[in-house]
Amino acid sequence: MKYVDLHVHTHFSDGTFSPQEVVACAKEKNLSAIAICDHDCIDGVRQAIELGEQIGLEVIPGIEMTVEWRDEEIHVLGYLIDIEYEWFTEKLRAMQQYRVDRMYKMIEKLREQNIAIDPRSVFTIAGLGSVGRPHLAQAMLLNGKADSMREIFGKYLGDGKPCHVPNRRFDPREAIGAVRKAGGVPVLAHPYTVGKDELIPELAEYGLRGIEVYHTDHRSKERKRYEEIAKENGLIATGGSDCHGFGKGRILMGGTKVPYAILEQVKEEARKIRQANSA
Ligand code: AMP
Ligand code: FE
Ligand code: FE
Ligand code: ZN
Repeated sequence: MKYVDLHVHTHFSDGTFSPQEVVACAKEKNLSAIAICDHDCIDGVRQAIELGEQIGLEVIPGIEMTVEWRDEEIHVLGYLIDIEYEWFTEKLRAMQQYRVDRMYKMIEKLREQNIAIDPRSVFTIAGLGSVGRPHLAQAMLLNGKADSMREIFGKYLGDGKPCHVPNRRFDPREAIGAVRKAGGVPVLAHPYTVGKDELIPELAEYGLRGIEVYHTDHRSKERKRYEEIAKENGLIATGGSDCHGFGKGRILMGGTKVPYAILEQVKEEARKIRQANSA
């Protein structure tokens, strides 16, 4: 059996692995293909594809877009997007700029609480990646401004806490439309973490073509439920581990078993979307 992992992060978002490490890890886990899905960023894709070619691993271009649905954050994956398409990459660039501006705002809010963090330390920790709260939290830990992640998110940076500034998020139609316009297949990531299943038929109306049924956070009960929902709505049941390198404590890659046939369904769907785009 050939297996794939269609949800892997690199250090271009909040994963800890470089594209090189991601590709090496996938090979070690005997995967036939992986999809790089960084948060609102495709900067790790090209290198991963090239490195994959060198060692015989298929690397699928992907993205995980941050979307707001009824005041809640949801994540929409986009598979097989055209990473050269400037209209799309410009959207992502604007999103990255917003993250940088927002980081300065959060640091200012921390300062108001008498917690001084040098922005440069946060951007250094983020490195090439799109800067976010985990990097800020790490800077706080390194500077002895707090004792634990739990404390930091519980007191300062968690959603709705005093030093949190929300990210810019895409509108669901905008995200799904953008992925399709870029020739990609839009898929709802980890529906369990949202927990509002009524969103699935709504997103399907906007052009969603799949949901992530197999995911590290989905137990067999959830897999069954989302398999059903996928069938009911004519959606592809995709899956991936959501590996963040060591970012989630342990390496998750390959831990979610997804047969290669599912990637073939996604590819077929991409062909249809591209055909419709050029018609
Ligand atoms: P950002 O994209 O900057 O809003 O950061 C989102 C990331 O922060 C998530 O992917 C998690 O890794 C982390 N995060 C958010 N809330 C918490 C929390 N309550 N505890 C620990 N980590 C969190
Ligand atoms: Fe993440
Ligand atoms: Fe996600
Ligand atoms: Zn993810």
